Amino acid sequence: MKIMVAIKRVIDYAVKIRVKPDKSGVETNNVKMSMNPFCEIALEEALRIKESGLASEVIAVSMGPTQVVDTIRTGLAMGADRAIHVDYPGTLYPLSVAKILKALVEIEKPGLIFLGKQAIDDDCNQTGQMIAGLLKWPQGTFASKVVLDKEKQTAVVDREVDGGLETLCLDLPAVITADLRLNQPRYATLPNIMKAKSKVIKKLTPEDLKVEIKSDIEVVKVTEPPKRKTGVLVSSVDELIDKLKNEARVV
Ligand code: AMP
Repeated sequence: MKIMVAIKRVIDYAVKIRVKPDKSGVETNNVKMSMNPFCEIALEEALRIKESGLASEVIAVSMGPTQVVDTIRTGLAMGADRAIHVDYPGTLYPLSVAKILKALVEIEKPGLIFLGKQAIDDDCNQTGQMIAGLLKWPQGTFASKVVLDKEKQTAVVDREVDGGLETLCLDLPAVITADLRLNQPRYATLPNIMKAKSKVIKKLTPEDLKVEIKSDIEVVKVTEPPKRKTGVLVSSVDELIDKLKNEARVV
């Protein structure tokens, strides 16, 4: 069984985000970019499944401009066997990404697709659900534990939901999106970084896959959140209650 993992290049989680002066988006020039943390977790889980003998190959896929290749190389250095880069210079919204993934699934025929539960740049949390819908495959989103059964061809997925843990049994092929507590992703070692340089990255375009990129969404503007007011020290509980009642009006 092949496993396909969608990895997205995003602004590094530790970078302080700056909005562009024209409010058209956030500044990405000269900003450190990294693999989306939830995609690292998704890739780690796919690698562990392969290492346990339940999968034959892990294919990392990423869509975006030429620079996306850096993220793909990180994925290959972590242990993915090969990669596909779908080259597209513009903005890609979840439905377009899901359509591209569907086209790749039709070529590669994986038994499992792993994605991050959400990308930390757009916080959409939509792509996994959309690809499952387009393929009509079962989905286990926000996975915190995944157990595959080779005989039964199923994946048992624990999901963290509001009331506790929900356990689903999915027939393969299926779509799984990774939550934070699924695993602790590995670091790429120097020998693996060197080895990754010779691994294959196939380059395609949306046109090659016959996917038309269009969007019904227009970003009107991006603005910074309002600055938080500095706090005040209160001298007594009575003063605190008074402020909560009469200023904040929350009690
Ligand atoms: P989102 O729905 O945008 O929050 O993204 C959820 C997940 O979809 C990400 O964690 C990735 O696994 C995948 N994804 C979204 N955009 C891309 C992209 N451009 N390239 C590869 N994977 C993507």
